[in-house]
Amino acid sequence: MVEAKKLGIDVKPPKDKCDDVKCPFHGELKVRGRTIKGFIVSRDIHTSATLETEKMNYVKKYERHLKKRMKLRVHNPHCINAQVGDEVKAMECRPLSKTKHFVIVEKCRHDIFVEQKIKEIEEEKKAKKGNNDNKNNQEDKKE
Ligand SMILES: [Zn+2]
Repeated sequence: MVEAKKLGIDVKPPKDKCDDVKCPFHGELKVRGRTIKGFIVSRDIHTSATLETEKMNYVKKYERHLKKRMKLRVHNPHCINAQVGDEVKAMECRPLSKTKHFVIVEKCRHDIFVEQKIKEIEEEKKAKKGNNDNKNNQEDKKE
């Protein structure tokens, strides 16, 4: 049995095992650099996910804080298997692909409200797209 490696940071190792080479616990991937906490907004079939974080940015000119949102592509190992709506911790690593250079190291909690919100937003987007297509079709017919 392959035991989870210690990463040297304050995270709980996952209970499941995996044989992913790009897994920080069971593979050969080393983590370093920034740690980011955020929610999973979308998840691919394979080991990729999109994470969204919020941070407060101080604007000197107006002496006020500005909320900034950032989207990140992260690696989602099989042993962690984060779902949409999960709050996760991701840590920087070597570039895994063109857009991925972060890997999920811990699943903190699952937020049902966030999951619902994300689904609602996606449905709205789909509805808008559908309306636009209909409009375009109608215009085409008129011509
Ligand atoms: Zn693993």
